[in-house]
Amino acid sequence: DPVIAVQNLSFTYPNAAKPALSGVTFQVAAGEFVGITGPAGAGKSTLTLCLNGIIPHFQEGAFAGKVLIQGRDSFAVSCAELARSIGSVFQDPEAQIVAPSVEEEIAFGLENLAVDPPEIDRRIDEALELIGIAGLRHRSTTELSGGQKQRVAIAAAVALQPQILILDEPTSELDPLGTMEVFEVLKVLNQRLKMTIVVVEQKINTLMEYIGRLIILKAGTLVADQPPRAIISRP
Ligand code: ADP
Ligand code: ADP
Repeated sequence: DPVIAVQNLSFTYPNAAKPALSGVTFQVAAGEFVGITGPAGAGKSTLTLCLNGIIPHFQEGAFAGKVLIQGRDSFAVSCAELARSIGSVFQDPEAQIVAPSVEEEIAFGLENLAVDPPEIDRRIDEALELIGIAGLRHRSTTELSGGQKQRVAIAAAVALQPQILILDEPTSELDPLGTMEVFEVLKVLNQRLKMTIVVVEQKINTLMEYIGRLIILKAGTLVADQPPRAIISRP
């Protein structure tokens, strides 16, 4: 069974002249590493918000179709419930870091889930180790570089042990080296933890080597869904 099933999904923001998404259908199987790309305004961010349930639960608008996360209809379950299966990393590392220190940032989501303190401590170490930033545990979040913040955000999502991780342009603030470092982290999560990864990127040259499949959105519609090589070699 697919871990993500998007069926004929359409969404229009209030007062928008045209839909942000129209008739989008695709599935993602467990363990896939999928890229989503397309020009600005194509609907990529809107799609990520539909996957983690922010749409329809927190964003008003006209919603049609279905989003199933591990077989559960996003309409029928809360965002908090969806967050147990799907972890989110948003585009702006500044906006998603809420705590004064790295360890508090990672503990935040775990405390919300009432995980007990020794387990929180263990999960912080494990996530930082996995992401390759164990040395940052006691650092203040305000003194981190953009790339470090992005990796802390990924560690915080990973510490919740979601089966699926969705990232919206996680490298938009990063240089080519930082970009590769983030994709290498995603590769480890995908290969070692068998985590399903869905990553939105506008600049996809580097991403091509990592993904098994690329979905292209244009003006709210899905225009391609293929292995990246098939897309590159088209005339
Ligand atoms: P990106 O293309 O990088 O995903 P955008 O520039 O489209 O980001 O959007 C940035 C922010 O502005 C998002 O939070 C988005 O929801 C919001 N936004 C985009 N277009 C509109 C709009 N027409 N009206 C109101 N908010 C918008
Ligand atoms: P992308 O992430 O591919 O840049 P978005 O999903 O941000 O695309 O935007 C898709 C369309 O929806 C765009 O036309 C954008 O202007 C519009 N949009 C995005 N956010 C909002 C919003 N909060 N209110 C109104 N329109 C929005």
